[in-house]
Amino acid sequence: MNTIIAANWKMNKTTAEAKAFAETFTGLLAKKGVPGGRSCMIFPSALSLDVLNSALAASPVVLGAQNFYPAESGAFTGELSLAQLSDVGAKWVLIGHSERRHILNEDFDCVARKTAFAFEKGLGIMLCVGETLAEREAGSLRTVLTGQIETALRGLSVGASDHARLAVAYEPVWAIGTGKVATEKEIAEAHGMVKEILASFSPSLDDLPVLYGGSVKPANATGILAIPNVNGLLIGGASLAADSFYQILQA
Ligand code: PEP
Repeated sequence: MNTIIAANWKMNKTTAEAKAFAETFTGLLAKKGVPGGRSCMIFPSALSLDVLNSALAASPVVLGAQNFYPAESGAFTGELSLAQLSDVGAKWVLIGHSERRHILNEDFDCVARKTAFAFEKGLGIMLCVGETLAEREAGSLRTVLTGQIETALRGLSVGASDHARLAVAYEPVWAIGTGKVATEKEIAEAHGMVKEILASFSPSLDDLPVLYGGSVKPANATGILAIPNVNGLLIGGASLAADSFYQILQA
């Protein structure tokens, strides 16, 4: 299983800024490339996918979309379909990110419909899960993670060949964009739980990569990657600058 280093750009960068990032990043990649055993992904704004798809075509960077609507096409004003996103280079999708759950009010049913649709269409799925501070303090971590994972995966018939296109990102909501990183013990405990929940859901799923996300930066990336059951990183703020994302990729 490759360690996945993934960038979530959220609602940042114009197409010109995305192009400038790609120029700097490919220049950096020309020195050391993507380290063996690592995969590199970027989830930019949908508007920058086309530009990045061209600018990064010769690199091993995989592109993904931050959002989509789970229908083929039709009367869904303002939404984007998987066909449209695939057309401009998206191979993976983020589903269940805490900002979509908590700010855009995506509920369990929405996450489940998106997961089922993307799975059926053959895209890679990065399922984001994580507890709020109130849920953690109430001792509900396992219940929250179990609910988020099981409602998303229910109904999928996952074969061994699908494992390469499924990943879970554990992102404690209180650590996203706050500068507050979970401790080594908290990360190890939550990742162990995610693996157990996946295994009890289906024994073959305990080998899915589980990424950590929440205020990762070059200074803490190596330490977090060394924690048991951490199989990658999902990075927001520190992925916006090519040099800091490159440093994390090399960490
Ligand atoms: C994220 O958006 O998935 C994230 C982890 O953000 P940040 O790295 O900025 O905390």
